[in-house]
Amino acid sequence: MPHPKTERTLIIIKPDGVQRSLIGEIIRRFERVGLKLCAIKMVTPDEKFVEAHYTLDPDWRRITGEKRIQKARERGEEPPSQDPYEITAVILENLKKYLTAGPVIAMAWQGAHAVELIRKLVGSTEPRSSDVGTIRGDYVLDSYNMADDDGRAIRNLIHASGSVKEAEAELKHWFLPEEIHKYSLVQEKILYDVNFDGRKE
Ligand code: GDP
Ligand code: MG
Repeated sequence: MPHPKTERTLIIIKPDGVQRSLIGEIIRRFERVGLKLCAIKMVTPDEKFVEAHYTLDPDWRRITGEKRIQKARERGEEPPSQDPYEITAVILENLKKYLTAGPVIAMAWQGAHAVELIRKLVGSTEPRSSDVGTIRGDYVLDSYNMADDDGRAIRNLIHASGSVKEAEAELKHWFLPEEIHKYSLVQEKILYDVNFDGRKE
């Protein structure tokens, strides 16, 4: 098993995050928890690239549609369809428009439990129900209903890989191996080093 500190995840600051000048704020939140930035670039993706990104996981269409149906059920509302694939077909078209609406920031972040930790800091998919203190909960107010009624993707500022497997595939999609840097941060001494001794001068 590799050490947990080697885990990496992909973050995309979506066009709304860039437009709202939240790049620094988002980076700050990942830095302050102790994660290490290993790759960063600004890209304006095309629709083909966006579709390929979301369909890297063959189960993404089913899971995303089911998540939407589940959320509607919890609220006692009607989902847009009972067929998860039908729901995701619409979402994917809207996502292509959303993610190509302007430049995005692609980043690789590394550190212990990076995937899980970043999902926690980012908050749940729908900003309306994201917890206070998460990035989506603190900086945006969009909802499934409003986005679906208006025929667009939920604007939630960020993409973050949902699992370690997803992260590995997504990092390959966005970065060449040489664009991901290996180095150590001074603070890793206190975060991970078993022999840390702060008494030595
Ligand atoms: P994430 O992993 O939290 O980003 O969520 P998903 O992977 O399930 O969905 C990808 C993106 O599609 C989300 O971040 C939203 O921007 C958008 N999206 C997902 N589900 C819905 C939905 O039911 N309606 C709308 N309008 N957009 C959605
Ligand atoms: Mg996802």
